Amino acid sequence: MRRDKTLGTIFAALTEVLFPSRCLACLSLLPDGSRHSLCPACDARIRYIKEPLCPVCGLPFEAGTTTSHPCGACLKERPPFDVARALGRYEGPLLEVIHRFKYRKDTAAGEALGRLAASYPFFDFSFTAYDVLVPVPLHLRRLRERGFNQALVLGRVVARHHHLALDFDAVARHRDTTPQVSLDGKDRRENVRDAFVVVRPQCLEGKRVLLVDDVFTTGSTVSECARVVKKAGAAWVGVFTVARVV
Ligand SMILES: [Zn+2]
Ligand SMILES: [Zn+2]
Repeated sequence: MRRDKTLGTIFAALTEVLFPSRCLACLSLLPDGSRHSLCPACDARIRYIKEPLCPVCGLPFEAGTTTSHPCGACLKERPPFDVARALGRYEGPLLEVIHRFKYRKDTAAGEALGRLAASYPFFDFSFTAYDVLVPVPLHLRRLRERGFNQALVLGRVVARHHHLALDFDAVARHRDTTPQVSLDGKDRRENVRDAFVVVRPQCLEGKRVLLVDDVFTTGSTVSECARVVKKAGAAWVGVFTVARVV
């Protein structure tokens, strides 16, 4: 036992020398034994989502000007999900890392993002309040192009960290859609209509389901996914994304 521990310590020290930890965003060397994946400068540039915000969709308001209250869009039309939360705004270091992860296929960066999200002390959101994590599925054609589903990479890390169930085939994306990036508001909603199908409703029925994705842009993709999951009998549907467009 003691010998194992010594070997473990030696191995950890050796790993540290051979592969020193670098900042997830700027790749600068982190201090020895650093427990964070970001250097202080990059961490300070991330605008983490904090109060005041919309308690439904998680839209943050400018600090000091108001208290948390439902935003205009949620008052006008309640979204199909019960709650949506994100780690930070889709800008600066968070945007850079997500791009490296998705477009340059750096899955290690994606896993580090997952760890960052999983260990973040959210003030009004908890992963452990959910029965099952469901990564928002990609269409098979897109999956083949990219080689991985970014939502699954993130979901897997979060599920492992919190010992939660992960279900990546209860819901499928049966209709290929135009990349949402090229569309705005109403077109985005039209584009994703009926894109998802629940393949195994028995896995979602009566459950508290957390949909996981990388970015919440207008919310139309996660909303459409949440709609079918709710229709399949889920008791509560939350949405978690690493970043959110504000
Ligand atoms: Zn940095
Ligand atoms: Zn809202």
